[in-house]
Amino acid sequence: MKKYNFSAGPSTLPEEVIQQAAQAVLDFNNNGTSLIEISHRSKDFIAIMDEARSLAKKLMKLDDHHEVLYLQGGASLQFTMIPYNLLKSKAAYIDSGNFASVAIKEAEKIGKIEVLASSKQDKYTYIPKGYTIPSDVDYLHITSNNTVYGTEIKTFPETDVPIVCDMSSDILSRSIDYNKFAISYAGAQKNLGPAGVTMVVVDKRYLGITGRNLPSYLDYEVHIAKESMANTPPVFAVYTTLLNLRWLEKQGGTEGIEKKNKVKAELLYNEIDRNPLFRGVCEKEDRSLMNVCFFLNDEEKYKAKFDQMWKDANIVGVGGYRTVGGYRASIYNAMPLEGVQALVNVMKELEKTA
Ligand code: PMP
Repeated sequence: MKKYNFSAGPSTLPEEVIQQAAQAVLDFNNNGTSLIEISHRSKDFIAIMDEARSLAKKLMKLDDHHEVLYLQGGASLQFTMIPYNLLKSKAAYIDSGNFASVAIKEAEKIGKIEVLASSKQDKYTYIPKGYTIPSDVDYLHITSNNTVYGTEIKTFPETDVPIVCDMSSDILSRSIDYNKFAISYAGAQKNLGPAGVTMVVVDKRYLGITGRNLPSYLDYEVHIAKESMANTPPVFAVYTTLLNLRWLEKQGGTEGIEKKNKVKAELLYNEIDRNPLFRGVCEKEDRSLMNVCFFLNDEEKYKAKFDQMWKDANIVGVGGYRTVGGYRASIYNAMPLEGVQALVNVMKELEKTA
């Protein structure tokens, strides 16, 4: 029986997407070849890439200033590409979690960085707010969802400074104004598809201003000109992402999925708050719809029992991040409500038998 997979990424994908991807690997479009052995220059694959770009644009309601790119190197390579492409004199960063802090360290290798606010001193249990954005910075870098700590930006900063946003763990999970960002980016392996491809949404108006002679692969303008085919793209990851985007469209796009994501998150947070054996980790107003972090109040007494119970309930992947401990249930778009209900049932059962 298929398990309920709460892993933070790579993570659960819709069953129909996995079936379709598996079929395409065996025989793509009944044409006697596998998806992973056709040329990326073939008509079939060019059509896949075109649809993957245009459907992402449609789902995010992007205007014509924005281009959707499918690149490699993970979100981690974006930590470098962003300052290479945009940083001329100084950039501002918000330190809201461990990936935000890695983004800062990488950018500091390239130019001058000002960290405007940090919640590190409070173990990243909230989203920093109320900071002033200097008008002379080239861009402001934020992280919309902090995968490890389970916090999420609900209201984005209002500023004339270009905003760059790491959306690795909540892209396309909610209806927001995606045109707001100069760059937004996400490794696919959480809400988009399998590992191996990174979606980068670029507002072309902010490119070509640093005067840097960039290595070709690190230059967004090269990828825009070559329509994400500057080198061999990861064909399987792009195709499976496209299948997932088609699935998302059938869910009613970002509006439809946001409603479902809110129901799932509320069910789980309500149980964490109600059940005396558990406690949440983060400020309630900043709680993520995607990564729900919680602790047992008495680990020594209940951990072994709880762990056995969720394993018996067909659940995997709820262990907390290695440096944080406790539990983290990642409830991305593809996690069905039944999966969340199964976890909540286990929490209730633990209380009953405690
Ligand atoms: N940013 C965030 C918010 C993440 O959660 C992750 C991965 N967990 C990364 C960046 C790094 O992504 P990748 O592994 O694709 O380089």
